[in-house]
Amino acid sequence: MLKTTFPHMGTLYIPMKSLLSTLGLEPVAPPPTSQRTIAIGTKLAPEFACLPLKVNLGNYVEAIADGAELIMMAGGVGPCRFGYYSQVQREALAEAGYRAELITLEAPNADLRELLRAIKKYIPRHNLSALFQALHMFWKKAEAIDVFDRLANRIRAKEQAPGSASLIQNRFYRAIDNAATLNDIKAVLDTGIQELQAIPIDQERKPLKVMLLGEIYMVLEPKVNFQIERLLGEMGVEVIRSIYLSQWIREHFFQNPITGKSRTHLLQLARPYLESHVGGHGLESVAHTIEAGVNRLDGVVQVAPFTCMPEIIAMQVIPAISTHFSIPALHLIIDEHSGEAGIKTRIEAFIDLLNHRKSKRQSKREPVLTGGS
Ligand code: SF4
Repeated sequence: MLKTTFPHMGTLYIPMKSLLSTLGLEPVAPPPTSQRTIAIGTKLAPEFACLPLKVNLGNYVEAIADGAELIMMAGGVGPCRFGYYSQVQREALAEAGYRAELITLEAPNADLRELLRAIKKYIPRHNLSALFQALHMFWKKAEAIDVFDRLANRIRAKEQAPGSASLIQNRFYRAIDNAATLNDIKAVLDTGIQELQAIPIDQERKPLKVMLLGEIYMVLEPKVNFQIERLLGEMGVEVIRSIYLSQWIREHFFQNPITGKSRTHLLQLARPYLESHVGGHGLESVAHTIEAGVNRLDGVVQVAPFTCMPEIIAMQVIPAISTHFSIPALHLIIDEHSGEAGIKTRIEAFIDLLNHRKSKRQSKREPVLTGGS
């Protein structure tokens, strides 16, 4: 069986392992991303490449050391560097002497035959029904993870013992990774939801609500965003994530990534501030900031890799939205030199500010008590 790997992006490894094994390949998930991974990728990549490209390269090298012979990487379209990612990575690996083959999976515009043609020569089970079955499992696992994560973010902000939801989440990820059938996925999800709902929570607590948005890789990969979702949650903040894995899969593999339905909706929402697609998730960052303002959330946190053009454009627009809707925004630009302590300090200061604003608003709304006789 051909040993096949892929880059990490949050929990993507779980549905990817299932997809590859259902197609008759042997999945080799890279070891979890670490400082070593980032150092390897940084050494091989061009200096000004985006951080995700560098981390991906480190993932490949570590997976090759574990025996991977084939690498699968998503392709991209639009005005940002993602479209060149796989070509740059292929050349960087070849220059460093790595022989593993890298194939690019382009968005098939909802035509599965297109995807099949791209991977046919590599996969043993290369017929449409096998591909459909593999994609179905892939999709169901991604969807289950997202349902679970949404609930975990709500519960985490109110849990009495910090860390309870994260403990169950880790167990859930392991179980969904081991689920072999659609029934198993459903059973694992049902159990996970029951366990989350059984966590003792503080019913009285009204947590801050913060939208987490930005470049998709930075939003979804906890090893590069310093576990921001858990960090905020365990500070008593409910995180509303702007993008989920299943959503990205749907947009990337089953819709045209530029003209898809959800993109049209976001384009309309962002139009007063940004009129065109600027690549990556720049447009989404603008649209979701507006959404957060309209829904009266307490704040917005934008995470972006250093030199990410789409997020830099969004960053120029967000302050105007922030003023218009009176919603504070924190911009975190991360690269391979960023340190956890610095990021954590900025987040804590931001949350202090939001708490202060909230208590000021509440004290204005509270009726003035006059003394009785
Ligand atoms: S969205 Fe940003 S980080 Fe991602 S490839 Fe494009 S420029 Fe690089």
